Amino acid sequence: MDFLPVFMNLKGEKCLIVGGGKVAVRKASVLLQAGAMVRIVAPQLNESFDLPTGSEHIAECFQASHLDGMALVIAATDDAIVNEQVSREAKQRNIPVNVVDNPNLCTFIMPAILDRSPLLVAFSTGGASPVLARLLRGKLETLIPQAYGRLVAFAERFRDTVKQRIAVPSQRRIFWEDVLDGAVAEKVFSGDEHTAEAMLLDLLEHPKAQADGEVYLVGAGPGDPDLLTFRALRLMQKADVVLYDNLVSESILDMTRRDAQRIFVGKRRGNHTLPQEEINDLLVRLAKEGKRVLRLKGGDPFIFGRGGEEIEKLAEHKINFQVVPGITAASGVSTYAGIPLTHRDHAQSCIFVTGHLKDGTMELDWDLLARPKQTIVVYMGLHGLAILCSQLVSHGLPATTPIAIIQQGTTQNQRAICGTLVTLPQDPNVAQLQAPTLIIVGGVVSLREKLAWFKPSASLL
Ligand code: SAH
Repeated sequence: MDFLPVFMNLKGEKCLIVGGGKVAVRKASVLLQAGAMVRIVAPQLNESFDLPTGSEHIAECFQASHLDGMALVIAATDDAIVNEQVSREAKQRNIPVNVVDNPNLCTFIMPAILDRSPLLVAFSTGGASPVLARLLRGKLETLIPQAYGRLVAFAERFRDTVKQRIAVPSQRRIFWEDVLDGAVAEKVFSGDEHTAEAMLLDLLEHPKAQADGEVYLVGAGPGDPDLLTFRALRLMQKADVVLYDNLVSESILDMTRRDAQRIFVGKRRGNHTLPQEEINDLLVRLAKEGKRVLRLKGGDPFIFGRGGEEIEKLAEHKINFQVVPGITAASGVSTYAGIPLTHRDHAQSCIFVTGHLKDGTMELDWDLLARPKQTIVVYMGLHGLAILCSQLVSHGLPATTPIAIIQQGTTQNQRAICGTLVTLPQDPNVAQLQAPTLIIVGGVVSLREKLAWFKPSASLL
């Protein structure tokens, strides 16, 4: 270890920054956040930066006397001689000193900071590569929820109570692990500290032989794993059991915990591997066994996803659950196809419908759909394509209205076929498309010619 990481209490302490440029101002802000009293010494401040609120500026050249009474000093000038002088004088007085970008002149170095106060994570490469430290911090940003600070503060509130109640340290540790990594923590993250508190107190009164199960109903987006949310990823890595269907891509499934049990509850058109009722019951049963159950759904769970039905049952059984929105196909697929769903010249509104056939017909409000300046997105519409197009025309949309059908959008298998309400149903290529496919109707489709930016391998076939 080249450096010992410590966290300094600088509240109310005087700290000196030497230099008046961008870096000096940035360092001053960090020190102010830690509650320090900051004095900036520089003949002049770079005029494009405001003096950070709470700091004072002394318009002088650095002299050793500026160090009097200082708890810490940072030199951030572009003058090597001044930086060296600050370092020397500070060392003589045993004042911790940092010279920006010059580890040899430092007695301490500044880490990259991930701030979830009161939780703090500091990253350092010992001055070797600050950029790498920042990159690493970025990676952890995605894994540590913003709400972690709230969780730490929550835990602190109950620290003494728990200590009194559970005297044996090893039992206390188990209790806290359960709270901080379980349903109570999830309640805090979702902003419901009131219930979290009740659950924690209940757990103290009646320690459980087995942890409470819970269900995470998570939207996995349209296919590209990069479109997952931070929260989705975190819960995917936490769950003991994963229920998924065929809208969830293999590469996304690979991101769930390695040792999690995976259950395919697939849904193929007209061939449900498990009827919806049984999926609902299975979620309840697994959660009652104390498991953390991830119900992973394509796109967004609340958009043509039956997410509502699945959690209704959970609510009836008073099982803890949370729902994580995902990027729905309409949004993800259109974007990757270069089709903005709204555009001032083409569409002021956008409507999502399901084109699922019932007894060979589509029960849709055609008058509502066949309106000018509106984009229509049809989920599950491939098999009804011909009906859709002819109905729209007979209800008043021009036969030349552009339409696109896109297969497996956002993935390397994305393919789009464009045409008009008259030509597309006749296009022989449509029969080659592989599910899932999404249909987009409206003037915005014409923009694809200019805006298609995503070039997956399938489009080059
Ligand atoms: N909850 C999902 C939709 C489920 S319905 C969501 O919010 O996206 C299933 C339909 O979604 C498919 O029939 C198809 O029309 C559409 N779909 C989902 N992912 C798709 C993709 N990657 N490309 C094209 N269509 C997709």
